[in-house]
Amino acid sequence: MILDIVEIGDPVLRRKAHKITQIDRDIRLLADDMLETLRDSGGVGLAAPQVGESIRMIVIEYPEDDSVENSPMKTYKVINPEIIWRSEETVVGSEGCLSIPGYVGNVERNESIKVKGLSVFGRPLKISASGWMARIFQHEIDHLEGICYIDRATEIFKPSENTETEAGSGAAEEPQVGSAAAVTTAEKAAPETSAEASKAQTVSEALAAVPETADTPAA
Ligand SMILES: [Zn+2]
Repeated sequence: MILDIVEIGDPVLRRKAHKITQIDRDIRLLADDMLETLRDSGGVGLAAPQVGESIRMIVIEYPEDDSVENSPMKTYKVINPEIIWRSEETVVGSEGCLSIPGYVGNVERNESIKVKGLSVFGRPLKISASGWMARIFQHEIDHLEGICYIDRATEIFKPSENTETEAGSGAAEEPQVGSAAAVTTAEKAAPETSAEASKAQTVSEALAAVPETADTPAA
């Protein structure tokens, strides 16, 4: 079943999500629905709060090797994910978010991480991720803490409307004029009010100088 994705401004996105203590059929069904919703949205990752469930579960689907065409997809459903190691090396890359349609931002992330968690059958998982995969995991695990990428972004911009985009950045295909206001208003309640306000002001300025965003998948 395809679920509704909540957007910025919904308080569930700002709540610290609850640890899952009982992994049952309902959890597995939700994981399946989240994956179906992710595929339908054309994104690469989805956290339970993004479908209105304040619990610690994420799903990720991304090509194993994004430098080749038709690479097999890697799919993860992780319960109670936790980053247990981060590389010192960091990289800045652009990110979008299915809950913040129409925008992307530059975010510094650890280049590699190790994540532990549980499978939907309660088995321990250990995942090593680097590059884009590491970025997606960090983005999704942030959602479980009530953190959105706009809190970390050094720059937020709206991809130019005539840019041909891949499925991943579906958000860019439907520019939403009202979103600038939505982002600023929604973030007024967040702690970093002044920082957010100034970031929001850079949105329009950044439009003129949009870097390559065509390959920015939303998560
Ligand atoms: Zn997101």
